[in-house]
Amino acid sequence: MVMRRPTKFIFVTGGVLSSLGKGLSSASIGALLEARGLKVTFLKLDPYLNVDPGTMNPFQHGEVYVTDDGAETDLDLGHYERFSQARMGKANNMTAGRIYDTVLAKERRGDYLGGTVQVIPHVTDEIKEAIQNASEGVDVLICEVGGTVGDIESLPFLEAIRQMRSDVGRENTCYIHTALVPYIATAGELKTKPVQHSVKELRTVGIAPDVILCRTDRFLPKAVKNKIALFCNVDHDAVVTAKDVETIYELPLILHREGLDEKITQLLGIWTGQPELSNWEGLVERAKNPDAEVRIAMVGKYVDLTESYKSLNEALYHAGFAHRARVVIEYFDSEKLDDASVLSGVDGILVPHGFGSRGAEGKVLAVKYAREKKIPYFGICYGMQLAVIEYARHVAGLEAANSREIDPDTPNGVIDLMPEQRGVEDKGATMRLGAWPCKLEPGTRAYEAYGKAEIDERHRHRYEFNNDFRQQLVDAGLVLSGTSPDGRLVEIVEVKDHPWFLGCQFHPEFASTPFQPHPLFVAFVAAALERTGGLG
Ligand code: GLN
Repeated sequence: MVMRRPTKFIFVTGGVLSSLGKGLSSASIGALLEARGLKVTFLKLDPYLNVDPGTMNPFQHGEVYVTDDGAETDLDLGHYERFSQARMGKANNMTAGRIYDTVLAKERRGDYLGGTVQVIPHVTDEIKEAIQNASEGVDVLICEVGGTVGDIESLPFLEAIRQMRSDVGRENTCYIHTALVPYIATAGELKTKPVQHSVKELRTVGIAPDVILCRTDRFLPKAVKNKIALFCNVDHDAVVTAKDVETIYELPLILHREGLDEKITQLLGIWTGQPELSNWEGLVERAKNPDAEVRIAMVGKYVDLTESYKSLNEALYHAGFAHRARVVIEYFDSEKLDDASVLSGVDGILVPHGFGSRGAEGKVLAVKYAREKKIPYFGICYGMQLAVIEYARHVAGLEAANSREIDPDTPNGVIDLMPEQRGVEDKGATMRLGAWPCKLEPGTRAYEAYGKAEIDERHRHRYEFNNDFRQQLVDAGLVLSGTSPDGRLVEIVEVKDHPWFLGCQFHPEFASTPFQPHPLFVAFVAAALERTGGLG
């Protein structure tokens, strides 16, 4: 019989304020432990009451990250997948809404018959079960608690992770608290008080952190670290600087130099050798020393909150790393775009995902400009649908062409609701979601990029290419380079006699990692670079 090592649990909490890079720190810890030969996975606990973030506006929540198994999740899961080999799914993101949903369904079913259903133990038990489920088959689970310590709504999560230490043992649990150490310029001093206060807050719910991760703009001097160690009651070598980085992919290296993985393995009693980090070093070297630069226009609605395009941005950077080129992303607000010549200086145009009619016409203008001026174009999901609309209007002569999402009464609904979406009333988790197979047509840009005929890509949409207009559009020259294996759903369209013009119904950005940049992004950035004369 093979004895498995017991699973170790790392709990990451955050204090002082949000946006401290807790997600990236968690992802980096995963990367470091993986580089020590351990099998890791992640769980993000989100304290809000939505069952999943799928129903939230991007301005509220940033990107909704889609997993292979079709879960609509927090964008931190994107960091986890980009930084490690772990593949995320439904079990790796749990919201308070989902926990309560399960508890209430059990209550109605009579599972607790006779009992009073309470936050402790019923809700906390459900959270602990989610933690155990997510940790199946790995050496280490990194569990990140969303929100900031002190928030009312995260209390059940904190109570559950507190209980985990008594459930699985001190030697199998490690609590890492991230907090801000601001530099106050007028005083010329780094201030440790916010860290002290947030650790105090954490202690009131019974958690004493083992490691403190200090987000700062500079490396903390020994004296400051010692002060934090003393006041927060942690080991001197357990105060780690998470300094601002030039590229996020540098964070694992910085945290390693600060001794974080060494401390974690010591605290958890894990014996491993030093991590193998040469691939990360190579990556950072490539990222920091580009030979060329390429400017990509991103024409979308959420340009004020670029977190909404997190995976897209990263996928573009990954492709840049592959070509040793710096990708500079310029955001254009599609609602304000009425003259596409503002795009004249860019090397490539990308129209990303989107919903609703606002800003759609600005995107169509951008597509037209890219097609006519022969600027490399990449349309993703809505960006593919709008490319079809543009082609239908201006090449195939279907002047009223539109998506029924934008104009339900258009006579030329070249993009229409999928048959299985008609009559769908519930908005949550009912889109076409997750990985779906697609077959590629040899001799096309898509086939050339992937170098194979069958692919799987992740989806998140309700509308699709309307087959009633298929022949007409093909006759007008539109290339359908990828379809579902049965040929029914059009997944990729291309325009001929153009340096690179491709729209895909799926989201390739979710599958891109710095070490395996996505082929479509690599090909798009190559085409854009060619325009600058920067390639070859
Ligand atoms: N709004 C479009 C649809 O629902 C596109 C969605 C998207 O871009 N992800 O089909």
